[in-house]
Amino acid sequence: MAGEPQDDCLFCKIVAGHVPATIVRETKTTVAFRDINPQAPTHILVIPKVHYPNAAELAAAEPALAADVLTETKAVAEEEKLESYRVVFNTGAGAGQTVFHAHAHVLGGRGMQWPPG
Ligand code: IMP
Repeated sequence: MAGEPQDDCLFCKIVAGHVPATIVRETKTTVAFRDINPQAPTHILVIPKVHYPNAAELAAAEPALAADVLTETKAVAEEEKLESYRVVFNTGAGAGQTVFHAHAHVLGGRGMQWPPG
C-alpha cells in the first residue's frame, strides 16, 4: 500500500538503516543521500521516508510531502554550494526509473545539455 514500507524496496531499506548510504541530510519526512553511481560531481537523491512508487503517486497522495522533497532539493543544493543544478524525477521505466520509491535526483557541478537523453 502506498505510504507503507515495502520489504523489497531498496530505498525503504536505506530509510530503515538496513542498507548503508552516505546520508547528507535528514528531516522528519525526508532523507537525502549520495547516489552510488554518480552522474555528476554532485549527485544526491532526496526521498520521502514513506514509500510511494514514483513522484506522481507521491504528489497525488501527499502533496505536502512532495513539497518537502522539493524543498530539500534546494537545501541540498545550498549545502553543496551549487550555483546551478538539475532536479530530475524519473517517472516510469520508460523514463529511466530503476528504483520504484519516489526520489529526486539533484545533479550539479558540471555543465549540462538540454534536452536530456
Ligand atoms: P532512477 O534510475 O531514477 O530510478 O534512479 C535510481 C538511482 O538510485 C540511480 O541513480 C542509482 O545509481 C541509485 N542507486 C541505486 N542503488 C543505490 C544505493 O544503494 N545507494 C545510493 N544510490 C543508489
